[in-house]
Amino acid sequence: MRVERVVIAGAGLAGLRTAEELRSSGFQGSITMVGAELHPPYDRPPLTKKFMTGELDDTTLAADPEALGLDLRLGEAATGLGEAVLHTDRGEHAFDALVVATGASPVGLPGNGRQRFLRTLDDARELRSALRPGTRLGVVGGGWIGGELATAAARRGCQVTVVEAAPAPVAGALGVQVGAWMAPWYAESGVDLLLGQPVESVEPGGLALPGGGWLAADQIVTAIGVRPQVGWLAGSGVTLADGIAVDERLRTSVPGVFAVGDCAAFISRRYHARLRVEHWDCALHAPEVVAANILGGDKTYDPVPYFWSEQFGRMVQYAGHHTGADRLIWRGDPAGREWTACWLSGTGPGDGAGPGDGAGTGDAERLVALLAVGRPRDLVQGRRLIAAGLPVDPARLADPAIAVRDTAGGGG
Ligand code: FAD
Repeated sequence: MRVERVVIAGAGLAGLRTAEELRSSGFQGSITMVGAELHPPYDRPPLTKKFMTGELDDTTLAADPEALGLDLRLGEAATGLGEAVLHTDRGEHAFDALVVATGASPVGLPGNGRQRFLRTLDDARELRSALRPGTRLGVVGGGWIGGELATAAARRGCQVTVVEAAPAPVAGALGVQVGAWMAPWYAESGVDLLLGQPVESVEPGGLALPGGGWLAADQIVTAIGVRPQVGWLAGSGVTLADGIAVDERLRTSVPGVFAVGDCAAFISRRYHARLRVEHWDCALHAPEVVAANILGGDKTYDPVPYFWSEQFGRMVQYAGHHTGADRLIWRGDPAGREWTACWLSGTGPGDGAGPGDGAGTGDAERLVALLAVGRPRDLVQGRRLIAAGLPVDPARLADPAIAVRDTAGGGG
């Protein structure tokens, strides 16, 4: 079917990039993009970083809706899906292809106190103006966002306490063994970190802890994770599975409907899993695949996911995907300022075969993920090795003096 009308639900990075990719691929039909927020598409990563410290005030993405021929409808929310038509709180938009890019929204805690979140520009603007020297800030959640906010708030002179239910920061993403090495970073920056400490509720003036405990705070930010913004698709026929279930081509269960970015859970052949990746890099690149497939192409999306964070003055970068079953080895001393954690899997395809091509199981160990702290070269080279799926020599990989790229091919 000839596609003449594309509608995009969600005016974030993934939505905007989809419009850009369509145009750069020569699409001349109409593109309508609806966004629930009043702001034109903007970048979120700086909100916890330079925006929060006050070094940056505008994170609007460089794009000209007019030059893109984009019918951008801000302050308009998608509410449902009909037969080739998107329903919104302002009306409806008929489409030949629909791209859902509605992102994710923060999970809250029970209680009657005011809990702030950090997802939108408005959230960040309000929080920033509430953070003054001496403000007692309670952050629930020692994940990436909690750590970044603590970094910025400490720089603003706040008294910051981060409360984390797990035994280590970022344990959900990295595991306790690696996350534990980040715990001392908090104290170095004058931030209190309470580990293994669940929070019962947010109450006026503080956090209620189990057993009658109490943490007084002037401002409270809940940063315990996000959920995909897909409630509006309930009953639409689009299959939901921790987000919108899409195939390798980012197609949903409804013909002509695609999903991309934080809301999309795609099938990764590389990792033999359905992944929903809440990373900027995914929202940046996956739209290339969506746009190509809308225009009749046959592209698959199977990236080595990449993420970065700035934690307490350190650049932290992660590439790949690992599970608790993968073997962890270190490059460098994790007590120092620069080190890399590598995860190896021995369950990949046999020697010489590409990843995920079903060529059989071999014993050679392969790099499946790495976390580089202050070692960007390790990250770049490691990401390439993961993509190539070559066996690595674990002994050489454990030597930080040997370039990651020079560890390929050996060992096995
Ligand atoms: P979003 O950016 O969430 O955009 C979705 C848009 O859709 C939103 O504007 C939303 O309002 C709108 N919307 C929702 N529902 C509807 C509806 N029903 N109708 C219409 N519009 C709707 N990633 C990194 O890799 N590194 C980082 O350092 C990093 N830092 C981050 C810091 C913060 C504070 C946050 C919040 C995120 C950070 N991320 C980071 C994650 C990264 O920003 C996201 O992965 C990326 O924004 C996802 O883009 P998206 O377009 O899929 O979703």
